[in-house]
Amino acid sequence: TEPRPLWLGTSWKMTKTLAESRAYVEELGHTVVPEGVQAFLLPPLTSLHVVLDALPTGSPVLVGVQNAHWGPDGPMTGEVSMTQVRDAGAQVVEIGHSERRGLLGETDEMVAAKVAAALDAGLVPVLCVGEPWSVRSAGRADAYVADQVRSALADVDPDDVSRVVVAYEPVWAIGEGGRAAEPADVVGVLDAIRGAVADLAPGVRLRALLYGGSVTTENATDLLDLDLDGLFVGRAAWTAAGFTALLSLG
Ligand code: PEP
Repeated sequence: TEPRPLWLGTSWKMTKTLAESRAYVEELGHTVVPEGVQAFLLPPLTSLHVVLDALPTGSPVLVGVQNAHWGPDGPMTGEVSMTQVRDAGAQVVEIGHSERRGLLGETDEMVAAKVAAALDAGLVPVLCVGEPWSVRSAGRADAYVADQVRSALADVDPDDVSRVVVAYEPVWAIGEGGRAAEPADVVGVLDAIRGAVADLAPGVRLRALLYGGSVTTENATDLLDLDLDGLFVGRAAWTAAGFTALLSLG
């Protein structure tokens, strides 16, 4: 079997002006992405073009968006479709982040429709799953996350499961006030995710299985000792220097 790349990526969430986006990428432009690392960058949609433009020609960094609608082009004011973001140069689309599920009412049905639409449009979906603290403390994290995966991939052709990246991001670990999961918190859920995938698509492996939630250069090494394909990072990679430090772990 071919060696699997180590995926290291960041979402800028709702941060950065065009000038800040360009400055970040220009600084990153001098960074050599280590052999074997698949880097990815998810700017806000407004900065997509600036980021694509500022990356050196032939850059191995995948660029994408943090959301898109599942439907075909048409009357859906304020949304953009998967085909539109693909046309605009995105290669990746994040789907089902807990901020969207928790704060913006994104449901399991919407997430499943987005995964299917992303694959149809030729995008790499980065499907985010993860349990809230109440579920974790009740000892139900494994089952809860496995259900999220089953539901999100329900409409995906088994062969296409190999095109999907899943990011396990416990809700209680994400963002300001979150604390990174201990490696021991993560192991069982990763197994549960692989189990759910094996039920849906026997013998098929996800493109990658990542961990996200308060990752820093300090805790990244311990997390990468787990059976994982990489890390999905927010705040610690909001500067080019931060992202470069993470890439150097590869
Ligand atoms: C995220 O929200 O996907 C995330 C990983 O954020 P942070 O690293 O800032 O906790």
